[in-house]
Amino acid sequence: MSDCLFCKIIAGEIPADIVYEDDKILVFKDIYPKADVHLLMVPKLHIESLAKLDQSHNDLMGYMMLKLPGLANDQGLTGGFRTIINTGKGSGQIIFHLHIHLLGGKNLPGF
Ligand code: AMP
Ligand code: ZN
Repeated sequence: MSDCLFCKIIAGEIPADIVYEDDKILVFKDIYPKADVHLLMVPKLHIESLAKLDQSHNDLMGYMMLKLPGLANDQGLTGGFRTIINTGKGSGQIIFHLHIHLLGGKNLPGF
C-alpha cells in the first residue's frame, strides 16, 4: 500500500524507533507515547483493521498475540501491560494498517 505510513516504516522509507523485527511483524515506539512504554506492533502484511481479517490471518494473529508478553517483559513491564486495538474511524483509528498498542508503566491511567 503505497500511501500507508506503517507500510513505509516496514519498508524502511520512514524512520522509526524499532524495538523488535522478524519476518512477520515489526514493533516500534509510538511517536506520541501515551504511557511510559507505548509500542506499536504491526504485521508486515498490510491489513487495514481487525474488521478486514479473514481465516487466512489466523496464524498471524495468534503469532502476534503470543509475542506480546515477552515484549512487555523486555520493556520491564513485569507488573502487567495493556493492549489496545482501535478498529475503524469511530474507535479513533487513524492509521489504517492493523496495529496493537502495547502500553505500560507507572503512569498508566485507569481505563
Ligand atoms: P490509532 O489511533 O490506533 O490508529 O493509532 C495510531 C498511532 O500511531 C498513534 O498512537 C500515533 O501516535 C502513532 N503514530 C503516528 N505516526 C507515527 C510514526 N511516524 N511513528 C510511530 N508512531 C506513529
Ligand atoms: Zn500498510
